[in-house]
Amino acid sequence: MNIIEGTGVIYKSVIDMDNVKIIFKLLRYTGTPFLIREILQRKKVTMLLFHDIDPIKCENQFKVLRKKYNIISLKEYFDSRENNTFKSLPSKSLIITIDDGNKNNYLLKPILKKYNIPVTIFLCAGIVGTNKHFWFSHNLNKRTIEELKNLPNSQRLNFLNKYGYTEEKEFCSRQALSKDEIENLKEFVDFQSHTIYHPILPKCTEKEAQKEITLSKKILEEKYHLETYVLSYPNGDYGEREILLAKKAGYKYGITVDAGYNDPKTDPFKLKRFNIRDDSDVDELLVKASGLWRYIMNFIKTHFPQMYTKMPPIFSIWR
Ligand SMILES: [Zn+2]
Repeated sequence: MNIIEGTGVIYKSVIDMDNVKIIFKLLRYTGTPFLIREILQRKKVTMLLFHDIDPIKCENQFKVLRKKYNIISLKEYFDSRENNTFKSLPSKSLIITIDDGNKNNYLLKPILKKYNIPVTIFLCAGIVGTNKHFWFSHNLNKRTIEELKNLPNSQRLNFLNKYGYTEEKEFCSRQALSKDEIENLKEFVDFQSHTIYHPILPKCTEKEAQKEITLSKKILEEKYHLETYVLSYPNGDYGEREILLAKKAGYKYGITVDAGYNDPKTDPFKLKRFNIRDDSDVDELLVKASGLWRYIMNFIKTHFPQMYTKMPPIFSIWR
């Protein structure tokens, strides 16, 4: 039994990882992910999201994805939209994206090189190249982190401040990619923006949101010489205000974690993506890459909201 202590909440779960693995295995062997791939995903572009994946897991996962899908770059998809050539993209096109810019992303270089797999990494422009930390990695339990995401930005920062974290604080060790590593990866990786410090944008004041969206682009362009035109909304959270701010800042595309597949008509600032747990096994990977998991979760969330909120974090779309 897992017991996860939150801020005043003791959270109990009888569902452990082994049981969840069985659920994914069963779902995979129903053949549903296969049917989804062959029917729904065949003429669409599927986008996946990873975070801090280790090289061994990465190699296994990317090898499986290569077998089942055709991996293309984000730019190939954008070019097909802009040049009206969407139909000439390979069937079951799949794009791999990685959010945050964790330092371990550098270890993926040999794999990207070996398999010639294009990826886009979305960087927190104020954290890469420094010893500043991601706020959600600051020694807090998962439930507290989830609770903080719901607070107004200033309250979240005040809370973190009490626990020794500020956005500007330089720690002894780094969590994100260094400037040299980014430079070194440029040949294999497309880098885009994931704001400066990864706030929950809709919880920010307009001024804060504008700074995060606009300045991150500027930093990546001026300090890292990156052509920055895509924004990945931190935590997948955005609203009409964020879309407007992104457009004003000069972005051409915005990436969410809304469930679904992309085609030439998908709103360019609401591109859809499925989150994959970094250490998923093959069953979980294929179930999640097909979108089946998100549709099941969304169904439970809509029709059984109380059950959904009581589900262990492993069931969340972020796990
Ligand atoms: Zn992120």
